[in-house]
Amino acid sequence: MRASGGGRARLEPDRGLIVAAPELAIGLISFGPERPLAESVQACARHGIRHVGLTRELVASSGPAEVARMLAGEGIAVTGYARAPRIPTTTGPERAQALSEARRLLDEAATVGAKHLIATGGGFDPAVSTLERAWDAFLEGMHALLPDAAACGVDIVIEPLHPMYAGDRGLVFTLARAAEACDALGLGRGLVVDAYHVWWEPGLADALAAVQGRIAEFHICDWRLPTRGLTDRAMIGEGCIDLAAMARQVRAAGFDGPFELELFSSQDWWLRSPDELLITAIRNFDALVPKSGDA
Ligand code: ZN
Repeated sequence: MRASGGGRARLEPDRGLIVAAPELAIGLISFGPERPLAESVQACARHGIRHVGLTRELVASSGPAEVARMLAGEGIAVTGYARAPRIPTTTGPERAQALSEARRLLDEAATVGAKHLIATGGGFDPAVSTLERAWDAFLEGMHALLPDAAACGVDIVIEPLHPMYAGDRGLVFTLARAAEACDALGLGRGLVVDAYHVWWEPGLADALAAVQGRIAEFHICDWRLPTRGLTDRAMIGEGCIDLAAMARQVRAAGFDGPFELELFSSQDWWLRSPDELLITAIRNFDALVPKSGDA
């Protein structure tokens, strides 16, 4: 899924459109969890978006086969499918149920044509008192799923989340910890870098250099000041993250895929139209991110 070309966004005044550079992908959750998927896909197609990311919740309403048909019709490819379930630390039926759900999601990911099933650790298990035990259960669970992933042709990838998700859905909080999980599972290019989740890391430039050749996806958005909660991400270029520097570091670390806008924004962008979001994203992306043809 190498992002081809190095073109900038271009204006098509006849159609009143701004067409995205091929380096910009869109996580469809950016249009809000209630937006009909067909509307989001059509907006992306209008603005020249060639890659999108999906969540299982978005796919559930239409079903994976219909989503695959819809995307193929617009010539749009899928990056990642979010996200693998939490693997309980118990060995009882809950664990078998979680693994079975994960296998179903691998199948769905394959059906929609996703390259990756994204795993974040799944969060704190109320049945146990330590994140370390949850970590062990997570690695064991992902290990058990590797043959199924290989059979589906879908890679499992690990996305570290901001530590404020520790009590909810996160378990892997730093790039080094994610790389450790990749090592334990034998995942080569198995790491998702999300600017929102890792921008705060001390020594971020060195941490990104240390995962050379291992980045499978790069998610972008910005950190709103002040933040009002877990679904309050800012549009790229409108917060306090040095995205231009991070984009250079991610490219220097060997990532050659598209940069994917992932905007959880329940109080702002989810309330706006897909066209407004895309036009703003394309303009801001163009100003922020160095193009592959640039010196
Ligand atoms: Zn992400």
